[in-house]
Amino acid sequence: MNTDIIKGKPVADKITDKLIKEVEELKEKNIIPKLSIVRVGEKPDDISYERGAVSRCSKIGIDTERIVLDEDVSEEKYIETIEKLNKDKNINAILCLRPLPENIDENIIKNIIDPEKDVDCFNPMNTSKLFEGDKEGYAPCTPEAVMKILEYYDVDLVGKNTVVLGRSLIVGRPVAMMLMEEHSTVTICHSKTDDLVKEAKKADVLISAIGKAKIIDKSYIKEDAIVIDVGINLDKDGNLCGDVDTNSVRGKAKMVTPVPGGVGSVTTSVLAEHVIRACKKQNRID
Ligand code: NDP
Repeated sequence: MNTDIIKGKPVADKITDKLIKEVEELKEKNIIPKLSIVRVGEKPDDISYERGAVSRCSKIGIDTERIVLDEDVSEEKYIETIEKLNKDKNINAILCLRPLPENIDENIIKNIIDPEKDVDCFNPMNTSKLFEGDKEGYAPCTPEAVMKILEYYDVDLVGKNTVVLGRSLIVGRPVAMMLMEEHSTVTICHSKTDDLVKEAKKADVLISAIGKAKIIDKSYIKEDAIVIDVGINLDKDGNLCGDVDTNSVRGKAKMVTPVPGGVGSVTTSVLAEHVIRACKKQNRID
C-alpha cells in the first residue's frame, strides 16, 4: 500500500486565496477586518502560534494587533482588557491565547468575551452552537482545520467509523461533534479507554489528539486507514513531531498528515476565515 502524506499547505493556500478576494471586496467598502490577539507572558508555543496567525492575516489583508500582558497580570486587568476589546468597534475578533495562567479563572473569562468576536470558540455560546450543529457560531480553529483537510482530500465520512483519540474541549470533543455532523460513526477514546489499540483499529479515519510523541504506530491502525495527526510534541531528540509514528504507519495507512506541515498549517487560515466572517456579520454584509 502506497501511503500518501497529505500536507496542509494546499488546503491553507486554497482558503487563503478565497479570503484574499473577500478582503479586497471589503476594502472596496472601506472595511478592513481586524483581529486582536491577547497573550499573557512569553510562552514559546503562544509566540509561535501568534507569529503564524499574524503572518497569515497580513498575507490576506487582515489587520492585527498584539496585546501582551505580564506573566503575573491580575484577573481584574485581564477582564478589563477583554471588556475594552469587546467595546472597540475597530476590533472584529479576539483571540485569547490559552491556557491562561492559574490565577486567571478561564471559567470567568470565557463568559466575558463577546461571542460575536470569539473566533476560537472560547465562549460557551459558541461551544453550544457547535454541539447543536448550528454553523452560525465559531468552532475552534484546530478541529475545523481537521475537517477542511478531510474535505480537501475527498475523504468520505458518511457511515464510516471515525475514532478520535483525546477528549479535550479544544480538540477531541469538538472534532468528534463535527465528524458526527458529517454522518460518520464516532468513537471517542481517552486515557481511561480499556484497549486503545482495539478501538483505534476500528477506524476508517483515525484522528489523534493525545499529545504523546509518536505513540501511534502501525499496530494501532487498520489497513487503508486515513490518519490525521493533531499532536504537536517534541521527540527524544527535541524535534517537532506528532502523535503518529509516520515511518511505522507508512505502507499500511492510506493517507497520513505530517507534523509539522499538516493540521497546524491549516489552523491559522481557519482563524482568518473566522475573522472575516465576524467582520462581515458585524457590518451586516452577507
Ligand atoms: P490535552 O492534554 O488537553 O488532552 C489530551 C487528551 O488525550 C485527553 O483527553 C487525554 O485523556 C488523552 N490522552 C492522553 N494520553 C493518552 C493515552 N496514553 N491514551 C489515550 N488517551 C490519552 O491536549 P489537547 O487536546 O489540548 O491537545 C492534544 C494535542 O494536540 C497536543 O499535542 C497539542 O499540542 C496538539 N494541538 C495541536 C494544535 C494544532 O493546531 N495542530 C492545536 C491544539 C493542540 P484524559 O481526558 O483521560 O486525560
